[in-house]
Amino acid sequence: MYLPDTVRQCLEKLELNNFACYAVGGCVRDALLGLTPHDYDLCTNALPWQIKEIFADRTLVLAGEKHGTVGVVTEDGVVEITTFRTEGDYADNRHPGWVNFETNIEADLSRRDFTVNAMAWSPTRGLADPFGGQQDLNNKILRAVGDADARFAEDALRILRGCRFGVRFGLHTEEKTLQAMYDKAPLLENIAKERIFDELCQLLPIVSVEDLLRFAPILTQVIPELRPTVGFAQHNKHHIYDVYTHICHVVAGVPPVLSLRWAALLHDLGKPETLSFGEDGQGHYYGHAEVSAKMAEEILHRLKAPTALREEVIFLVSRHMNRPDADKKLLRRHLSRWGEERLRKLLQLQEADIGGKGVQDEEFAFGEMHRIVDELVAENSCLSLRELAVNGHDLMALGICGKDIGKMLNHLLSMVLDEEIENEKAALLAEIRRNML
Ligand code: ATP
Ligand code: MG
Repeated sequence: MYLPDTVRQCLEKLELNNFACYAVGGCVRDALLGLTPHDYDLCTNALPWQIKEIFADRTLVLAGEKHGTVGVVTEDGVVEITTFRTEGDYADNRHPGWVNFETNIEADLSRRDFTVNAMAWSPTRGLADPFGGQQDLNNKILRAVGDADARFAEDALRILRGCRFGVRFGLHTEEKTLQAMYDKAPLLENIAKERIFDELCQLLPIVSVEDLLRFAPILTQVIPELRPTVGFAQHNKHHIYDVYTHICHVVAGVPPVLSLRWAALLHDLGKPETLSFGEDGQGHYYGHAEVSAKMAEEILHRLKAPTALREEVIFLVSRHMNRPDADKKLLRRHLSRWGEERLRKLLQLQEADIGGKGVQDEEFAFGEMHRIVDELVAENSCLSLRELAVNGHDLMALGICGKDIGKMLNHLLSMVLDEEIENEKAALLAEIRRNML
């Protein structure tokens, strides 16, 4: 296994001092998969004070010392070295009540979540793999270390980690492990919302429809508002799927961009409560976009999502039913109001939403709409007050003052956007004069 020089040097220094030292966890898994690890963790039988002594000539990060982790600052970043440890008494399903330092690697590996994450490797001692992680990797199996129920009860975040690792590496979750993930999902209630949000942000960009269907019992625990959508028939000839299945198709159908994936996940939450029936017996969901946007806001607030993401998701969810036509003037107005990025994202959400109905009975020219947006962007035409060929000074020179300046500028922009006037100084000044008569 390849180790970067800085990591190898730390490992060798501990070995020189007669301690055992291994690369451990994610980096070993990634290397066995032929992937380049994004970081390397070391573990050792040296105690924190011994690690500190051995690296006394280096700058150290000691924030994790209590849990056995000493960070050695290298020119390549911080190498984390952790004393072999076990832990237990997870009264809150998350934090260990005690941490014990151990003398052998097997004990340390036994506290880890999944067999594929419970391997260690040293250049002198080879692979330590007491739980068959390598074999599971080869067979593409995700399996909890030891008793699955107990492991998820200790730390319920492992349930979401399991979802993520399974999807990321295309692993099939072994039956007992999957059952324990479902059974212990209610314990996710005890996990800090930020951590849940962080896991979901890593999961959403990589999930498929099948993954989302399989994870329904878990996702409905962390976002209870999803629960009424599961199996909720749409009673509408334009839809063949129930609301949750439709949501799954839309999530997997939008590009893997966080705000879009979140918007897709939350875009139809308001459907169950807005269902009404028309005279034709068809189900309708008047106002569901606004209701969903409100729910999305609450959910993202609860999960402590960053404000920028929350705002973008609310924007997308609340407008997902306002489907534009391939009309240049209309799209220019949207572009002016929302900017290119948001407009494109809204179109992408709407396209996936329509694609996720399971029937192709409506024609929407999304390709054409994007092409028009390309054209508008390439034209570099006037889309905001800033780009208008006259400014406040020009208006003041004509004797306009105070609030009237803003009003007039907006009036001019509106005309330019609607192609009623060229964005040329002389034409705009003439329009101003005409208005002043
Ligand atoms: P990634 O590539 O996403 O960083 P990783 O496997 O390195 O994957 P980390 O969260 O960095 O994941 O954790 C490093 C190692 O620590 C894991 O491989 C696993 O052995 C162990 N670990 C991390 N979190 C837990 C947990 N909640 N319960 C048990 N073991 C854990
Ligand atoms: Mg890692």
